[in-house]
Amino acid sequence: MNAIRNNITVIRSSLAEGVELCAVSKFHPCEAIQEAYDAGQRIFGESRVQELTVKYEALPKDIEWHMIGHLQTNKVRAIAPFISLIESCDSARLLECINREAERCGRKQIDCLLEIHVAAEESKSGWDWYELLKWLQSGALQRLPHLRIRGVMGMATNTDDEAVVRADFQRLALYFDYLRPIFGDDFDTLSMGMSDDYRLAIECGSTMVRIGSSIFGSRVY
Ligand SMILES: *Cc1c(COP(=O)(O)O)cnc(C)c1O
Repeated sequence: MNAIRNNITVIRSSLAEGVELCAVSKFHPCEAIQEAYDAGQRIFGESRVQELTVKYEALPKDIEWHMIGHLQTNKVRAIAPFISLIESCDSARLLECINREAERCGRKQIDCLLEIHVAAEESKSGWDWYELLKWLQSGALQRLPHLRIRGVMGMATNTDDEAVVRADFQRLALYFDYLRPIFGDDFDTLSMGMSDDYRLAIECGSTMVRIGSSIFGSRVY
């Protein structure tokens, strides 16, 4: 029996058309990722730079790595040469740093998502919506030609109350729709939904779900 392959097949068949699967492999070993890779999975999400670079070195080079955890500016350099998508862009300082590092390592552009804070927990990261608007209106993005802003990422409140989770996802979808005309055709990704809430996220318009424990089992911290 191959549990990981099986989980991927089941989850894939439950995704609406056009929804991409980011397999969140944080804290799981390379062997587990290789199993998912052998089942056809190519997009993997990690939340720590150190772990991500080790796995990048060890695993097939056609994997698309997504950074999904809070990213410190002094860690950007280590992933800039190979990262496919930085989903957790939560500040102007970080975006400026990614722009610099992209240029430095000779990449024309690095794909980024704007992580927006909608959850009730203050501890979760992400832009405050109004701060983000203010920053965008200042024209700051025009000075960051090495970024390609692909969309929005967010996490819902950690609660069993479905109405609260739905409201969070609906807010993210609203922000996504609002920003879309500003960025144009490249802006096509709304990353929301995890193991416990991805079905709801898809109902609310998600185009990319980030699923860890339902694929790899629970994490050992
Ligand atoms: C860990 C993590 C996930 C995956 O969570 P699961 O509940 O294991 O599916 C998704 N998104 C982010 C940002 C994470 O840190």
